[in-house]
Amino acid sequence: MMDSFIHFYITTIFLSVFFLINTQSDPLSTLESTIISHGGQVLRITDSQYKAAATLHNRAIQTWPELILRPATHDDVLLALSTLSSLRIPTRIMGGRHSYGGYCSHQGIVLDSALLKDLKIDWETETITMDAGVIWDEVYRVLNGTEYVIMGGLCPTVGVVGFTLGGGYNAMYSRSYGFASDNVLKFKVALYNGSVVTASSEINPDLYWALRGGGGGNFGYVLQMTQKIHRINETHMPNGQFTFLNITWINVDIKIALNNWLTFLKEVADNDIRISFNVIVAVNGESNFLMMYCSFNGPSIEIGTVFNLWLLKDPKPTFNSMFNYTQNDISRVLAIPFPVVNREHVLSAMAINITEAMLDVILDFQPNSTADIGSWTELIYLHSATKDKNTAYAFPDISFDIAPGVSWRNPDNDPYAIDMSEKFLQKLIDAAAPTKSIVGAYLNYIDPYLPNWQTMYYRHHWDRLREIQTKWDPTWYFRFPQGIPPYNQQSNAYKLPNKNSMVIISSFIILVWFY
Ligand SMILES: Cc1cc2nc3c(=O)[nH]c(=O)nc-3n(C[C@H](O)[C@H](O)[C@H](O)COP(=O)(O)OP(=O)(O)OC[C@H]3O[C@@H](n4cnc5c(N)ncnc54)[C@H](O)[C@@H]3O)c2cc1C
Repeated sequence: MMDSFIHFYITTIFLSVFFLINTQSDPLSTLESTIISHGGQVLRITDSQYKAAATLHNRAIQTWPELILRPATHDDVLLALSTLSSLRIPTRIMGGRHSYGGYCSHQGIVLDSALLKDLKIDWETETITMDAGVIWDEVYRVLNGTEYVIMGGLCPTVGVVGFTLGGGYNAMYSRSYGFASDNVLKFKVALYNGSVVTASSEINPDLYWALRGGGGGNFGYVLQMTQKIHRINETHMPNGQFTFLNITWINVDIKIALNNWLTFLKEVADNDIRISFNVIVAVNGESNFLMMYCSFNGPSIEIGTVFNLWLLKDPKPTFNSMFNYTQNDISRVLAIPFPVVNREHVLSAMAINITEAMLDVILDFQPNSTADIGSWTELIYLHSATKDKNTAYAFPDISFDIAPGVSWRNPDNDPYAIDMSEKFLQKLIDAAAPTKSIVGAYLNYIDPYLPNWQTMYYRHHWDRLREIQTKWDPTWYFRFPQGIPPYNQQSNAYKLPNKNSMVIISSFIILVWFY
């Protein structure tokens, strides 16, 4: 009698706990309905807008989230973070979706900034304040026709925040005006628990330092940032125009052409920050291609004096065209459609210089032997480009970002294409070893397969960044495989217990009790 009473009593307690957990107003449903009531979106795989919202720039690393939350207000982001972190449900922050590692997405819940689009220019202070969902195209359109430029990317669909947090160079202007991260005056940051802080040189300077180059997806969710804009008046052209040159060599000895260019850099460009280059080298057996985008942020009347001596050297360019472009024109000319149809793997080697041995490796990058795979190497000339040495970006001393890329369509080629490009990078690093020319890798070209990524991305800043992460995100709520762990966490173990697992455990106990 006593036994069955105890049995009945304990069963009642279990059932009450079980029903309490299941019937109380579900905080996730409340979050979803709040977001929708404020004009936001909640997208599941069955929704017609889901596929377009979840598609990443790079098909090779596509993952499909269970749920995409698109808050329409900053307060809704705060509510989302406090709700999700208190339920111990992990999330990823999605911006322009251009991360080469796909770290803005995962199979769980994604917080997508796509509807946070506020953009304000203050002409008096020459600053622009941008919400987390703004992409560069939207900024260039607003600045078009003015004399101002901003340190955004050449690709117009990249997100402004993701770009800036990783450093953010503009291949045409950064030598003149610095990286995007050098130009940020203030961040508004949502922390994992839904509280909000400002980071600037005066307020929370440690977080301000870390956000400028420490990389997207760490420390907190940047809701908004204020960045300097720059008046282009040295060119004496209207509407912020500057001279843009497209200089191309086809099927010549491009090793000689590249060496001529390197000599020009040493003798002229290294001392003239008005000159910038983004160079593309593609070699395939007998045929080869060398194309240079070059900008000159000075008066066009000086072009002949600055460039002619170099361009008259043999081999002469196959063609050489000159345009007067605005920043908006450039982003339209160089625009890559989003999302790209191909799969991609793009890597980076931050180099102090380019030696003959490194050139030989670059000129031997020929995976085109299989028709599906194309390869190229970009050389982004960044000598003296960093203006603020006191940021988490670790490479103020480099002159080049050497960025090899491969692109292919057939998913069966994923392992081969990725493996051959990683091997190419290793060969380049080996060739640079005797001269210590390569000192790391660029975080904005984040590479899930990079060994020693901690020192490659962060160099001597790794320990300080971990300290700052420990202070601002002690439970490592914002985590991803190449994220910065706080000091109390070592592994990338991802699973956190959540409410669903509690329901499963209590159901299991009840079943055991009955049978
Ligand atoms: C075609 C192409 C061209 C590029 N050109 C350049 C270039 O010229 N210069 C350059 O420096 N880089 C360039 N990049 C690299 C690009 O800057 C990085 O991939 C950048 O991280 C992309 O940001 P996103 O918001 O578009 O991408 P996402 O994939 O959405 O985000 C990137 C990372 O930032 C995090 N993140 C996004 N929003 C926030 C936020 N609000 N708060 C906190 N974390 C956030 C994400 O979680 C993710 O980890 C280019 C990339 C591509 C694909």
